[in-house]
Amino acid sequence: MSASAALDVLNPATEEVLTRQPLASAEEVDQAVAAARAAAPAWRAVSPGDRARLLRRLAVMIDDHREELAHLETANVGKPIASSRGEVGAAAEVFHYYAGSVDKHVGDTIPVAGGVAMTFHEPLGVVGLITPWNFPLLIASWKLGPALACGNTVVLKPSELTPLTTVRLGALALEAGLPEGVLEVVVGTGPEAGWRLVEHPDVAKIGFTGSTAVGRRIMAGCAEQVKRVTLELGGKSANIVFADADLDAAAAAAPNAVFDNTGQDCCARSRVLVERPVFDRFVSLLVDAAAGVVVGDPLADATEVGPLVSAAHRSKVEGFVDGVDVAFRGSVPDGPGFWFPCTVVAPADPASALVREEIFGPVVAVLPFDDEADAIAIANDSAYGLSGSIWSRDGSRALRVARALETGTLSINSNSSVRVTTPFGGFKSSGLGRELSMQALAAYSELKTVFFSTR
Ligand code: NAD
Repeated sequence: MSASAALDVLNPATEEVLTRQPLASAEEVDQAVAAARAAAPAWRAVSPGDRARLLRRLAVMIDDHREELAHLETANVGKPIASSRGEVGAAAEVFHYYAGSVDKHVGDTIPVAGGVAMTFHEPLGVVGLITPWNFPLLIASWKLGPALACGNTVVLKPSELTPLTTVRLGALALEAGLPEGVLEVVVGTGPEAGWRLVEHPDVAKIGFTGSTAVGRRIMAGCAEQVKRVTLELGGKSANIVFADADLDAAAAAAPNAVFDNTGQDCCARSRVLVERPVFDRFVSLLVDAAAGVVVGDPLADATEVGPLVSAAHRSKVEGFVDGVDVAFRGSVPDGPGFWFPCTVVAPADPASALVREEIFGPVVAVLPFDDEADAIAIANDSAYGLSGSIWSRDGSRALRVARALETGTLSINSNSSVRVTTPFGGFKSSGLGRELSMQALAAYSELKTVFFSTR
């Protein structure tokens, strides 16, 4: 691809062209890596206190630009403005949290024969971050926060479909006082700009969020150089409802757990497993709740669900439900936009693609189960293991089931499971490594042991 290649960046709700985005060539990625490499020694030498202050300043800048960033995210991703405001606020929180981590990510002193051993968390050097289109600013912050806190410099490649808030973040970082080269943002395609980061010998680690198919390729590419890699990939999470649960609460929460962000959420609870005696009652409650979801203009405060990200993605989602009997299909606005109706399939065919594969759209499959063992077996019968929920008034059973699920991040009697203070990541094909919390720092530093002889 030539350096002059460019892509129309669209508003998915209107199909209007927001901007024509130049796409970085492999050579331009090389220049960004060289700039990040040149900035690395000085950034590493910044005192912990000053590094923390700079990250805190960036957090404040993000908060100060909340409306601007939220409107950019809504225009580019099509997500409801209320969600965008929440995500910008959450991104600022991530930088506050990792500002506070800088001077707490400390090594150990270990008494050993003949002296003392010390451990140090050393920066990796230049880190390549590759992010998806569904939560552009938020996922960038999850990676950037720990990467910068640990003293790395970064080349960040957002999805070419939704680059606008990431580009703005790069400018805000400079305004906040981050030295030139500490954060380089390159917008380009995956196979050209993204892959160049994977194969570049001066990039020490790749932090990737995206599809399992691309994640697999990136992991194989990193293996060539034994490059560090963390992967946050796809999901097909189960929302398990036992007969003794508060069915009204479970049904009221179920639509948002899968339709939020128009289903374009790796944590979407897109399989709802319901104990057989309450199956019909629950489906009827779920359909009522789904009918109440507000779909429409992403700029309206009350909107809960916007369009899908692109025409190509809408065709993919359509392919999963074509010819399938549905229990509920919502309505969508007339006119332009990549709209797709909220859809409930109940009972779904356990062998169908819509039950087994990640759809990444507003489609939920409801399946019956017989008992606790059956629920665990169905939930675990998936290549993925990212998230999930358990609804039951029997606390012991809920915890027993939680321990038995092959899943990284779970909630009991709730669908909320992602917080900056707690680890997040997947089992099986949902990924490798953990983001958020103090755990993420381990993925952005190298542990060094130094023996000091006292003889
Ligand atoms: P994607 O895999 O198509 O793209 C993700 C990023 O990788 C983009 O920046 C893209 O340009 C880049 N890329 C594509 N091909 C590449 C290559 N060959 N080399 C290097 N980079 C390449 O994913 P997407 O469609 O943008 O996002 C949707 C997927 O992301 C879903 O599967 C979803 O589950 C997953 N996701 C996971 C999490 C999580 O935390 N587990 C969060 C959000 C999204």
